Amino acid sequence: MKIRIYSGDITKMNVDAIVNAANNALLGGGGVDGAIHRAAGPKLLAECRTLHGCETGDAKITAGYDLPAAHVIHTVGPVWKGGGCNEASLLASCYRRSLEVAEEAGCRSIAFPAISTGVYGYPKEQAATIAVAGINRYFNEKKDSCIGEVYLVCFDETTEKLYQKLIGKSGNQI
Ligand code: ADP
Repeated sequence: MKIRIYSGDITKMNVDAIVNAANNALLGGGGVDGAIHRAAGPKLLAECRTLHGCETGDAKITAGYDLPAAHVIHTVGPVWKGGGCNEASLLASCYRRSLEVAEEAGCRSIAFPAISTGVYGYPKEQAATIAVAGINRYFNEKKDSCIGEVYLVCFDETTEKLYQKLIGKSGNQI
């Protein structure tokens, strides 16, 4: 598995699945959630309504509709409340559950936004460390994964620099 860093808009990415940093209702919102719903079109919201929400730390899959990506994996990150409310394990769970759901759907490539680091306020450095550690742990445990490429998508320079520091400019291979 290869981890790559991609700077830009996740809705433009031609991968098997993009991950949405959604909320518990799965009925759309601001930030990356709003951008994904706008780009995918109204059928995405119609399918989301059939899912009846999602627990924090869990993930659910839909089609990608008008997106270049075939699927959207909706995961719900924790709201940052200072670190004492299980935020780290909930955020790690978002990465693990998204990869499991992608695996079940046969995806070979997946792109993650920096879950919880926008409106949900998770400190960016801690979130980046959890993202990279969680992804590495998943692939160390699942040697026969069908997922060959994982993109970490950055929408700001701070996140880009953090990912570069953690995995190197050229990405890393497990
Ligand atoms: P959360 O509620 O989980 O914090 P946000 O959507 O507010 O979710 O932010 C999550 C991350 O997604 C932030 O780092 C934000 O900069 C980034 N982001 C926002 N729009 C996009 C986009 N179109 N493509 C990729 N990343 C995005």
